[in-house]
Amino acid sequence: MNQNTKAKVGNTSPSNNFIPFALPSIGKEEEEAVVKVIRSNWLTTGKVTENFEKEFCKKIGSKYAIAVNSATAGLHLALDSFNLKKESYVITSPYTFTSAAEVTRYLNLHPLFVDITEEDYNIDPILIEKAIRSNKNVSAIMPVHIAGHLCKMKEIMDIANKKNIPVFEDAAHAFPVCEASSGKEKKKFAGTFGDAGIFSFYATKTITTGEGGMIVTDNDKIVQHMKMMRLHGIDCDVWDRQKTKKNKWYYEVKAPGYKYNLTDIASAIGIEQLKKVDIFTKRRIKIAKLYNKAFKEYDFLTLPPASESHCWHLYIIRINNAKLKINRDEFIQKLLDKGIGVSVHFIPLHIMPYYKSCYGLKPEDFPRSMEKYLTSISLPIYPALDDEKVKYIINSVVEIGSRSYR
Ligand SMILES: *Cc1c(COP(=O)(O)O)cnc(C)c1O
Repeated sequence: MNQNTKAKVGNTSPSNNFIPFALPSIGKEEEEAVVKVIRSNWLTTGKVTENFEKEFCKKIGSKYAIAVNSATAGLHLALDSFNLKKESYVITSPYTFTSAAEVTRYLNLHPLFVDITEEDYNIDPILIEKAIRSNKNVSAIMPVHIAGHLCKMKEIMDIANKKNIPVFEDAAHAFPVCEASSGKEKKKFAGTFGDAGIFSFYATKTITTGEGGMIVTDNDKIVQHMKMMRLHGIDCDVWDRQKTKKNKWYYEVKAPGYKYNLTDIASAIGIEQLKKVDIFTKRRIKIAKLYNKAFKEYDFLTLPPASESHCWHLYIIRINNAKLKINRDEFIQKLLDKGIGVSVHFIPLHIMPYYKSCYGLKPEDFPRSMEKYLTSISLPIYPALDDEKVKYIINSVVEIGSRSYR
């Protein structure tokens, strides 16, 4: 890592040498931008947020971007903007965080879980088709680009277009990742395939504003609705018009909206993070390559799917239970003992008490999600993780596996 990169990704050396599972990369630029906003006395949504939205559009190639205070809020707004039939079903994966499924319930809709593919962690288009065939009441699809690996979007969009149902991409992990481009064609980013794409700027995500999110869309029809519902259902046209007019105090409430706007303080951080995102991504890809190269020799490990369309928000490795005397949980404990923070992605939603009891689901209903859940370990992968620490993590994983080999 050169000095310039080092300055941008921040310093990782915690005094006790523990390697955290995730770390944000916040530098001087973010600090200064925040101070500037605070001193400007305009703290909430304003010009800086507008700029953040503009810059985000530019980066991703979308027509509109709407900043919100979380990706969960964004998923809710996007789903809300389509006025889907009450009690209908929204297809999503059980192998993810609760957000996409959760927001269906806000709107009296239901999640319809569809298992992931055999070879990766993303929803299986073949199973989506099957689910639509057996449930006539499907009104939308919410694919999730797990770990930053692009879903099979062509297949998913073909199905959705045939059925004329909207697609909302949970791109919380997937900023920025695009499809492998063939020749001169413009690259298409995750989040821009469906009717709307939703990104997260939660503290552990690929860029962060502490808490925050962004909805992107090209759909003119839903933009005004999402903007209105983001801020109490206040008609933003009236709001904007009056700002420049005499009666600055006048506004109209058109619907019972939400309080989902992003502050200029957060957006100021976002703008600086956006400038650095290519450096961040490059570093994460490099770390993934180092892991892949080291781990591919060992049959007690299964590598994450190899893909060009991957921004490596997470590095999820699987342990092969048939080759080891210890299970996944014991493997994790040994890594923690060595001072390495790890995590598990994901505890499938269908075994979570709420979804399980609400829909009468059994662990074996989604065997691929279950199998991956029971064998997966997420290793640290973030820009500030230096080569020395990567090497230490590799050596630790290899040592634990080799010592516990059957
Ligand atoms: C983090 C995450 C979210 C939620 O993001 P917030 O900004 O915290 O609301 C949604 N989906 C997935 C897959 C996530 O990992």
